[in-house]
Amino acid sequence: MTALLSVSDKTGIVEFAQALHAQGVRLLSTGGTARLLAGSGLPVTEVADHIGFPEMLDGRVKTLHPRIHGGLLARRDLPAHMAALTEHAIPTIDILCVNLYPFEATVAQPGCTLADAIENIDIGGPAMVRSGAKNWKDVAVLSDASQYAQVVDELKAQGRVSLATKFALSVAAFNRIAQYDAAISDYLSSITFDENQINGAPARTLFPAQSNPAFIKVQDLRYGENAHQQAALYRDPQPVPGSIVTGQQLQGKELSYNNIADADAAWECVKQFDAPACVIVKHANPCGVAVGQDAAEAYAKAFQTDPTSAFGGIIALNRPLDGAAAEQIVKQFVEVLMAPAFTPEALEIFKPKTNVRLLQIALPEGAPACANRLEYKRVGSGLLIQSADDHALALADLKVVTHKQPTPEQLQDLLFAWKVAKFVKSNAIVFCKDGQTRGVGAGQMSRLDSARIASIKAQHAGLSLDGTAVASDAFFPFRDGLDVVIDHGASCVIQPGGSMRDQEVIDAANERGVVMVFSGVRHFRH
Ligand code: 5GP
Repeated sequence: MTALLSVSDKTGIVEFAQALHAQGVRLLSTGGTARLLAGSGLPVTEVADHIGFPEMLDGRVKTLHPRIHGGLLARRDLPAHMAALTEHAIPTIDILCVNLYPFEATVAQPGCTLADAIENIDIGGPAMVRSGAKNWKDVAVLSDASQYAQVVDELKAQGRVSLATKFALSVAAFNRIAQYDAAISDYLSSITFDENQINGAPARTLFPAQSNPAFIKVQDLRYGENAHQQAALYRDPQPVPGSIVTGQQLQGKELSYNNIADADAAWECVKQFDAPACVIVKHANPCGVAVGQDAAEAYAKAFQTDPTSAFGGIIALNRPLDGAAAEQIVKQFVEVLMAPAFTPEALEIFKPKTNVRLLQIALPEGAPACANRLEYKRVGSGLLIQSADDHALALADLKVVTHKQPTPEQLQDLLFAWKVAKFVKSNAIVFCKDGQTRGVGAGQMSRLDSARIASIKAQHAGLSLDGTAVASDAFFPFRDGLDVVIDHGASCVIQPGGSMRDQEVIDAANERGVVMVFSGVRHFRH
C-alpha cells in the first residue's frame, strides 16, 4: 500500500505517518511535509522524485502529474485501467492525506491583501482530494486530522480500510472541497475591485454576488416547528465563541427545533447584561427578564413578571447556576436551562429531573460578540440576508426630548427596558422597574394593543406599573399608545423617534409630565 501525505496543517501528521509506516505502508510526500517526516526518522519518498519533476512556481505545481492522478484515479477492478498503470509504470496510491492551504484563516486576517488570498488558494490539494474521493472504493481520503485515528485503528485491526469508512471519508472530502470553494467564491465575489488599490486590502461587501452559506450539519432533529415538518441543525464552520451551537448539553431530552430557537433568543438576550441576569423565553419572546444581586435573585424577579407564561419556558442565566438558584428553578416546569457553568449542588438538584435539558455555554471574556453576523430568511424561492441587529445603545446616544430630565435610576431602567425590547417580537412594549420587566407586550399588529397587553399582563401578575420605564421598539405613530402606558403608571419612555408626529408625541409626554428619550435606532424583530 502507498500513502501520499501533503498537509498544510501538520497537526498529528508525524504520528499518523508513523502508524502507517508500522503497518507497512509506503510513504510519499510533498516538500514541507516530506521534510517533517524525514526529520522524524521516517522513510519517505518525495513526490518530486516520484514523478521526476521538481516542485515549481513557488509550489503552485507540486502534485499535478499523471503519476499522481493516475495512481489515485485508476479503478483497480478494471483490467484496462490497471494495464495502463503498468504500461506507464504508475504505482497506485491507496491512502491520500491532504489538508488545504489555509484560505479561510488567511482572508479572516484583518488587512489581508488580494495577493495573499490568491496565493492561499490551493490547486493541487483539492485536485488530489477530488481524484481520490471520486475513486472512493480504492482510495481512503483523509481531509482532516480528526479522521486519522479511525483509519489507523482499521488498518491495525483488518489490514485495510473498510468500504463504509472509505465512503464516509469520500463524502467528507467532497464536503470539505465544497466548503473551501464556497469560501473562495464568497471572498472573491465580495471584493469591490479597485485597480488603484490592487496591492492593498480590498474593500469588501457583506453581500457577495452569490450567497454561499456553507453550514455544517450538527444533527438531525426529531421534527421541525411542528411534528409534520422535518428539521436539522447546522452550524457555521467557525462558530462564534459563546453562541448556542457551542453549548454542551449536560443532561435531558434531545433539544428540539423550537427549543434551540428559543434557547438562542434567551441566550443572546442574557448575554447583553453585565450584572447577574436571567431571561425566561416562551415562544421566542422574553416573558421575564431581570438583573439581581445573584443568579437566584435575578431568576426570582424574572419569574415574577409572568409566572403563567414561564411554565415550560426556556431559562438563561449569565452566571453559573448555583444551588440557591437551582432550588428555586427546579420548582417550575422548565424545558431548557442555560448557564455558563453549573455547580455540583445545582447538578445534584436537577439530577432527578431527567427531562430538563441543561445546556452549558461558555461566556467569552470581554464584550459579548453577536453570534450571527448575517441572518437568513427564506421567502418563496428567494433568500433575505441581513446583518444581525447587534446595535448596543450607550448612555451618550440618548436624547432627552421632554422638559423633564430622567433621574439616574430612570436612565438605568430605560436602558434595561431597551435591551429587553430588542428581543421582543414587534410591536414590542416593555414596562420595567428596578432591573425587572413588569409587563411585556409582544408581537401585536398595533403598538396600542401591545401597550394594552403589557399592562394587562402586569395586572395579572400583581405587579405595580407605577413609576415604570417603558421601551417601545419603534416610534409611537400617534400619542394614543403613549397615553395607554402613562395611564398605567409609566414615568419615562424610550423610543427611537423619527415619526412625522414626533412633536405630537413629545407634547403629550410634556403635557402628562413624563420623561421621554429618543434612542435614534429601531429594533424591529419579526
Ligand atoms: P507541503 O507543506 O508538504 O510542502 O505542502 C502541502 C500543501 O500543498 C497541502 O496543503 C496541499 O494541499 C498542497 N498541494 C499539494 N500539491 C499541490 C499542487 O500541485 N499545487 C498547489 N498549489 N498546492 C498543492
